[in-house]
Amino acid sequence: MIRFQDFSFRYQAGKTEEPADFALKDISMEIREGEFVGITGTSGAGKSTLTYSISGLIPHHFSGDFYGSVEVNGMDTVEVHPEQLARFVGQVFQDIDSQMVSSVVEDEILFGMENFQVPRDEIAKRLEEVLDMLGIASLRRRQISSLSGGQKQKVAIASILALQPDIILLDEPTGELDPESTVMIYEILRRLNREFHKTVIVVEQKIMVLCAYVSRLVVLDKGKVMFDGPSDSITGEIELFKSLGINVPRVVELGHLLKRAGLYSGKIPTELDGAEKMVREVCRC
Ligand code: ADP
Repeated sequence: MIRFQDFSFRYQAGKTEEPADFALKDISMEIREGEFVGITGTSGAGKSTLTYSISGLIPHHFSGDFYGSVEVNGMDTVEVHPEQLARFVGQVFQDIDSQMVSSVVEDEILFGMENFQVPRDEIAKRLEEVLDMLGIASLRRRQISSLSGGQKQKVAIASILALQPDIILLDEPTGELDPESTVMIYEILRRLNREFHKTVIVVEQKIMVLCAYVSRLVVLDKGKVMFDGPSDSITGEIELFKSLGINVPRVVELGHLLKRAGLYSGKIPTELDGAEKMVREVCRC
């Protein structure tokens, strides 16, 4: 369980800089175990800051003015070191290249486990498990630099999963991926959530993908929570989303309306093929 209580944070300004605005303001919300939450909003809204607040990088790595509290599994993030939190929270950063420390896939996955002093026989077991879970066993001896963006993303997720966190935080995991790889990554996240009961929190600008996969959507704007609710309730909030610069694609709008009317029960489409399938199913043609 993650609990934000009246939480605000402002990054420390440089010596010659004007004091910055609060990156997050008055955040009070809870994220329960097993949720699949999407965080969206325009650039600068505070999405990455929210993830750093959960993983403890705020206030331990980024200093600034910190008000209120953030608790993760009952621990106050101010009081515990991020390394201790990392046993519960696995974070995949936006820039995965900077996250990678090894040149070979297998070494990358082993590195975190060795750092965490996981017992030897347990390391071997977990390595096999995560390679298998992400379908990347054939890549284990490959150079990371030779992988595609989607493959690298899978390796980053596998390295985090090997540490067996309850909560997985991902910051725009599909930012540089094509639609096919995007869907592939989200299918993996769905499986981790449903089959392995992980709490998944994902920062994503592609609202269409979020609506198709997450159950709860949080929209940030200028550091504030502007919407927090089930992703299928967004049809009533299209105007709010537009005013925040977030475009809800017509096909998502249509999918939710058809679902609400009881005419469609399948997946909300995230691409044209899916939209065509949905329309065919509704029309039975
Ligand atoms: P988003 O992820 O939604 O694009 P961020 O959380 O990165 O937003 O940024 C929120 C605000 O905090 C922005 O005004 C940004 O300039 C500021 N900010 C982010 N990181 C830092 C940092 N390391 N130092 C100072 N200000 C920062």
